[in-house]
Amino acid sequence: MIKLQGIRKSFGRHEVLSGIDLEVKKGEVVAILGPSGSGKTTLLRCINFLERPGAGTIAIGSSQVDCAHIGKKDIHELRLKTAMVFQNYNLFRHKTALENVMEGLVVVRKLPKEEARQLSVQMLEKVGLGAKLDAYPSQLSGGQQQRVGIARALALNPEVILFDEPTSALDPELVGEVLDVIRQIAREGITMIVVTHEMGFAREVANHVVFMDGGVIVEEGAPQDIFNTPKEERTKQFLKRIT
Ligand code: ADP
Repeated sequence: MIKLQGIRKSFGRHEVLSGIDLEVKKGEVVAILGPSGSGKTTLLRCINFLERPGAGTIAIGSSQVDCAHIGKKDIHELRLKTAMVFQNYNLFRHKTALENVMEGLVVVRKLPKEEARQLSVQMLEKVGLGAKLDAYPSQLSGGQQQRVGIARALALNPEVILFDEPTSALDPELVGEVLDVIRQIAREGITMIVVTHEMGFAREVANHVVFMDGGVIVEEGAPQDIFNTPKEERTKQFLKRIT
């Protein structure tokens, strides 16, 4: 379903990703863990070309590209297969919840407005915001704003949703409602890659856990193996610090 091979990325002379290989199967929830600065967000952003990898190949479904020789058309095609949920929600401040969800459907997917509206209402209802369609982001809590972000991603019906630390900007009391929504959509079999510091969530919801440090995947496996019997010293140290 998704296959990354040899992904490298540098910022100036600083190599942030040093050859990442990762496979994600259809319907799988992959959690990416690791210390701050290990390259987790950069990896996620490379998958939809918000960052351009310096080397490697990315395959999503039937499309495969060589990152070193990629054209605009390939990037557009790959982007249509992914949707991203950002740490800071990235909502348009001057648009309502409904308009935020509709935007990508109308502008990128070219759906007729009425169809986009109906689908957006459905998605906002799904994340528990059926009563907030006309609210602006400033009138919503952080948890509600992030749920709009999730509705927006879902509406695009992507092959994979990429979550970049979706709860790290939230006050602790709002984390639960967002994790509940992610948990619910995971059950529906949507393929997801989630960068997270929520160990309990990763343990419970992920099918596969990846531990990154220093721009490489140090260890990966089933959640029970990574959390209960990590093999690598760096994984052990990280889990000891964080749990
Ligand atoms: P993580 O998500 O694991 O905290 P990041 O992928 O955000 O790690 O960052 C990895 C490293 O790349 C960090 O050292 C960070 O400072 C650097 N980095 C990330 N984005 C940029 C950028 N746009 N320009 C320069 N350096 C960056």
